[in-house]
Amino acid sequence: EWVDPVALIKSTVGGLAQLAEAAQVSVTCTLPEDAFQIKGDEDQLRQVLVNLIENGIKYSGQGAQVSVTLLAPSYEDRLRCQAITIRICDTGPGIEQHHLPRLTERFYRVDNHRSREKGGTGLGLAIVKHIISRHRGRLQITSQLGKGTCFAMVLPVG
Ligand code: ATP
Ligand code: MG
Repeated sequence: EWVDPVALIKSTVGGLAQLAEAAQVSVTCTLPEDAFQIKGDEDQLRQVLVNLIENGIKYSGQGAQVSVTLLAPSYEDRLRCQAITIRICDTGPGIEQHHLPRLTERFYRVDNHRSREKGGTGLGLAIVKHIISRHRGRLQITSQLGKGTCFAMVLPVG
């Protein structure tokens, strides 16, 4: 199955517009101009995006920004079977370094006031990790306390 990641990001962000508005978080996208396709499961990749963008909205709070960036190789490089990177960054509270290696474990939640009051099951990132690995991709998490968090996934094109 082939998926247009630009269209997928646009429609996913559109679907989360009400949630973002209610939380007073702005979600912006930086996407390449031209449409192209990667091999993957559209429903599963949508779920990855929803989970990551939802986390950004839910944990960052009022006035924060969530940015979704798609870095795609040029047309020529794509033909040589490269990978794309999708980065979802927020200007939220950040996560302490020692949590990062365990963040994608099932039911793992950063035990702070903010996540406790937000509900949730702690499964979102475990699902994200599972789907990305099924696509033979990689997920990298970086965070700075008081500045924000970035989730970067690398997905093979073909
Ligand atoms: P679910 O996604 O199942 O509704 P959840 O959001 O708690 O529940 P995960 O999405 O797996 O579960 O996230 C795990 C924990 O990581 C969260 O509880 C939260 O503490 C922390 N976290 C995830 N994303 C962010 C983020 N963007 N900023 C700050 N903390 C985050
Ligand atoms: Mg979540």
